[in-house]
Amino acid sequence: EVKKKGKNDFLFFSNELDEQLLEKIELESDLRKAIERGELLLHYQPQIRTEDHAMIGIEALVRWEHPTKGLLSPGLFIPIAEETGLIYEMGTWVLREACQQMRRWHDEGGPLIPISVNLSSQQFHQPKLAEYIMAILEQTGLKPEFLELEITESMMMDASLSSSILNQLNEYGIRISLDDFGTGYSSLSYLKMFPIHKVKIDRSFIRDITENNNDRAIVSTIIAMAQHLNMEVIAEGIETKDQLDILTDNSCQKIQGYYFSKPLPALDVEQAFFVPERKEATNSTK
Ligand code: C2E
Ligand code: MG
Ligand code: MG
Ligand code: MG
Repeated sequence: EVKKKGKNDFLFFSNELDEQLLEKIELESDLRKAIERGELLLHYQPQIRTEDHAMIGIEALVRWEHPTKGLLSPGLFIPIAEETGLIYEMGTWVLREACQQMRRWHDEGGPLIPISVNLSSQQFHQPKLAEYIMAILEQTGLKPEFLELEITESMMMDASLSSSILNQLNEYGIRISLDDFGTGYSSLSYLKMFPIHKVKIDRSFIRDITENNNDRAIVSTIIAMAQHLNMEVIAEGIETKDQLDILTDNSCQKIQGYYFSKPLPALDVEQAFFVPERKEATNSTK
């Protein structure tokens, strides 16, 4: 009996593995077609100044409208894109789409704010990254100072390589933001070695900040450090008023999180965050 049960368990386990593998292979082949079929889209999450709740930046976050599985989040398909090399094509699409959208917003009288785009490690280490991004900026007509690239600490471990990439991007006027700060191979020497404009405090330090004194100490230290180094600092993942109050008390001037807005389709951002004058102007022409 024991034997039989064991065997069934094994069969069950093995079927489940097969299923996961199949699912992955299926997603992989779907992903190859997704870009040409126009199934990728961007959502945008506002970055807010605590002082007056103005939108001072916005982050582009990729989504995949899968024909049968619905709207998929990047956690499900970015790893597959990275494994298969599809990340290059996807990354190019994201950059172009984000720059185009921001240029359009600028043209339409939207706020003159930068757009933040996430880069994966493979993209970051692409030869001629800076030239290729400059070409996208030229094609879309967005000025370099309105593009902010989000990279993570672990991408900078090869210091000499990163230093040449970052210096070049900086010379072109493109901004660099350190995403998920505090969770990677945090080396404070990176901060003084490289041209970094902004530090994004990771959500994991914010989550329990109302109860956890250690998290509060870490966050207030990162904020103070960034200010001393003349870098901007923004906290990610603010969901409640209490969290916002603690950050404000610690003189964090910029935040991003569900408390103000989830990532939204472009039209919803316009409706919720563009100044009223613009909406009225649109209405009066109807
Ligand atoms: P990230 O760059 O750190 O982006 C922030 C993530 O946190 C987003 O998840 C966002 O929806 C979520 N978030 C924002 N505010 C809150 C909050 O208050 N509470 C909670 N619980 N979550 C919040 P999303 O869109 O699923 O993206 C996950 C990650 O996927 C991103 O983390 C980024 O690393 C990666 N990613 C997204 N878009 C792209 C892309 O176009 N290219 C690359 N290479 N990676 C991307
Ligand atoms: Mg990011
Ligand atoms: Mg990230
Ligand atoms: Mg992050």
